[in-house]
Amino acid sequence: MNKGTYDAVVIGGGMSGLTAAITLCDAGKTVAVISKGDPVCCLSTGCVDILNSTDEPFDGISSLPFGHPYGLVEQDLIIEACEHFMETAARGSLPYAGSIHKNRHLITPIGMKKTTCLVPKTMEHANCDENEGIHIVSFRGLKDFFPSYIMLQYSNTGCSIFDASVSSTIGIAERFEDERFRETFADWLSRQHIPEGKIAIPAVLGIRSSFSIYKELSQRTGRTFFEIPTLPPSLPGIRLFKCMKQAFLARGGHLYWGSEIASVEKLGAIIEGVTLKNPGRVGRVQGRAFILASGSFISGGLFARMDSVQETVFGLPVYYPENRSGWFKDSFFSRGHQIEKAGVEVDSSFRPLADAPFKNLFICGSIMARSEVMKYGCGHGLAIATGYAAARSCEGFVR
Ligand SMILES: Cc1cc2nc3c(=O)[nH]c(=O)nc-3n(C[C@H](O)[C@H](O)[C@H](O)COP(=O)(O)OP(=O)(O)OC[C@H]3O[C@@H](n4cnc5c(N)ncnc54)[C@H](O)[C@@H]3O)c2cc1C
Repeated sequence: MNKGTYDAVVIGGGMSGLTAAITLCDAGKTVAVISKGDPVCCLSTGCVDILNSTDEPFDGISSLPFGHPYGLVEQDLIIEACEHFMETAARGSLPYAGSIHKNRHLITPIGMKKTTCLVPKTMEHANCDENEGIHIVSFRGLKDFFPSYIMLQYSNTGCSIFDASVSSTIGIAERFEDERFRETFADWLSRQHIPEGKIAIPAVLGIRSSFSIYKELSQRTGRTFFEIPTLPPSLPGIRLFKCMKQAFLARGGHLYWGSEIASVEKLGAIIEGVTLKNPGRVGRVQGRAFILASGSFISGGLFARMDSVQETVFGLPVYYPENRSGWFKDSFFSRGHQIEKAGVEVDSSFRPLADAPFKNLFICGSIMARSEVMKYGCGHGLAIATGYAAARSCEGFVR
């Protein structure tokens, strides 16, 4: 039986869990992250939505309904958390642009606009108006990216198609990691006689070194580029996840990846450890404190039965709209399905509310009750803010 003892054990390796884990490492704590799989971040655009329902996201947070988990994070701490995120990403060679005071409107692969806030620098110039000169470069056979739809929305747009001999986003991105391929691509581009204006490209500029590839291409061609995230799973989301995971490891963190929790060891109101269910071996991870960041339904942090919702690791009480007939709206795509409110209620120190059984357990991210991430467009923003704040609370506990 493997044994490890940490100041803090984080359950869930998504944006909230990794933010909490990195924050605790930065405070000099020993930290383990246990995650049964890759997080929702890998399906995302890699852009950080802080609050999409308004143009000034930071100011808009104060008008969210009472009980929204953003309300538990002091305003200064939200700013600090976002700065910490920007620094972490920049140190991981994935610099971000933007300010939490202003949203941007990016072109999507189907020509619509996505409102978001902090964006990878490869998308810094993607805030375009309808008459701006844009030339789209796409790739032969590439699915999940639709230049013709974009051209319908943006009147001053042209398009060229490059044959990269592969047609998946990951395949093309891998080719961009090769310098000779980049040379060939830049030569081809210079022969296209593209009129003045920006060059839009699907998000395939590398997997590991996107920003340096982007910079090199801009320098070689003297043009302004921007990436457009493709449909999920999208490379910028995968890059962001890899960057956060790497940042955690670089700070000495310990990862138990692909591990499910088999059982929880408790002594009174204290969690002492968890046992991992791994094929062929059983491991035990002990901690002075635990942070639950196991996400919502999509990641399995919450599980819906016919008439109730369960928290799957500790069996914590879950808030959910009582009447199942009111969980969903008739139209799947309408915002604000009531079931999105389901989650664990926490107090101001991010511990589970009510007759919560554990004193050394903290909660963060989309598993929190009333977060309504889709309705408010606050996915990674809420994960970063609550992950950071829960880590601060946890740090106070283990000090
Ligand atoms: C398709 C899609 C696109 C999105 N796009 C964006 C976007 O562009 N911008 C944005 O800001 N937000 C976006 N969001 C929302 C955003 O991705 C999430 O709100 C946010 O990343 C949630 O992070 P989290 O850490 O709370 O949870 P998750 O990302 O769900 O992570 C939870 C982790 O816990 C692990 N886990 C679960 N149960 C256990 C267990 N029992 N034991 C161990 N580990 C466990 C899971 O494997 C997972 O890794 C998108 C969401 C979706 C579904």
